[in-house]
Amino acid sequence: MSRTDHPGAAPGQGEAAARRAALAERIAAFPRVRLGHLPTPLEPMDRFSAHLGGPRFWVKRDDCTGLSSGGNKTRKLEFLMAEALDQGADTIITQGATQSNHARQTAAAAARIGLACHILLEDRTGSNDPQYRLNGNVLLDRLHGATVSARPGGADMVAEMEALAESLRAKGAKPYVIPGGGSNPTGALGYVNCALELAEQAAAMDLEIDALVHATGSSGTQAGLVAGLAALGSDIHLLGIGVRAPQERQEGMVFDLARRTAARLGCEEAVRREDVRANCDYVGAGYGLPTPGMVEAVKLLARLEGLLFDPVYSGKGLDGLIDLTRKGVFDGFRNVVFLHTGGSAALFGYPETFDLPGYAAA
Ligand SMILES: *Cc1c(COP(=O)(O)O)cnc(C)c1O
Repeated sequence: MSRTDHPGAAPGQGEAAARRAALAERIAAFPRVRLGHLPTPLEPMDRFSAHLGGPRFWVKRDDCTGLSSGGNKTRKLEFLMAEALDQGADTIITQGATQSNHARQTAAAAARIGLACHILLEDRTGSNDPQYRLNGNVLLDRLHGATVSARPGGADMVAEMEALAESLRAKGAKPYVIPGGGSNPTGALGYVNCALELAEQAAAMDLEIDALVHATGSSGTQAGLVAGLAALGSDIHLLGIGVRAPQERQEGMVFDLARRTAARLGCEEAVRREDVRANCDYVGAGYGLPTPGMVEAVKLLARLEGLLFDPVYSGKGLDGLIDLTRKGVFDGFRNVVFLHTGGSAALFGYPETFDLPGYAAA
């Protein structure tokens, strides 16, 4: 695969600018609460690029969205929280894994807006480590004043949220339920907006981005990017690195949500199945379970670039980026952007994972 495999369909400069303006207008039509520090920076990773060889690597700093240590859920919550307010909600309910970054950003957003927040945490890893169960994102959920309760691994979390919503309604509350990861067409608008933001930054810097790589989980991030890039007629090669589901399921989820998101923008037909690519070879034993490649990748970037990636998502995404680069997948590409989706708060839930002296598991 190389850049020349998908030639010439991208619009010219004038046309591209017109498409960006049109997409900005469509996004502006949706209710939105400003929560993030946007645009997030787009920075070169030159020591990392020199280390790896091949293309020049850049990092899109969505770890710097500003809300409670940042991350990708903040962009989604700008649209989700606006919808909650429009519906007159006074309470937010959401769910995630124990060390959910989504739960933490939702708790912070609810605090900022003045809504109550209930979080259900699914124990997907079975870890009894008190750091995992109480530190990192869980500490921050509680600090933001959310009501946190645990559910066993494999629980039907959608049903659990609905049952909680029902019991809160019976007490007179007006709950608004946000799906895991904030991944529905409303939340994914946040990543349509990110695609636009990145296109605007690249145009202003005269930078031609060949590929965009990121960790994909509940699929809203990639779905929004797919829809946004399709609306722009962009030929950027987008690749999600899976952290949970196998490839076919992951791509199916992303495609379905990208279509539904694009439909809200009036460009459903622009989303093509072949533009949805996920590589799910870097999950390891399962969601949230460390892999040697993730450990190596997190340490490498911490030491080469001063950047903090996380054990569950961005570290596995980076592992994929590094390995695929070594395998020549990006040969012929000049500029590859890694979207840093955040998650560093989870590092404190996994202190023994990085083989550092004195942090052995208890
Ligand atoms: C949630 C999350 C992702 C995955 O985003 P989805 O929209 O759920 O696919 C990636 N990285 C981090 C740090 C996250 O918290």
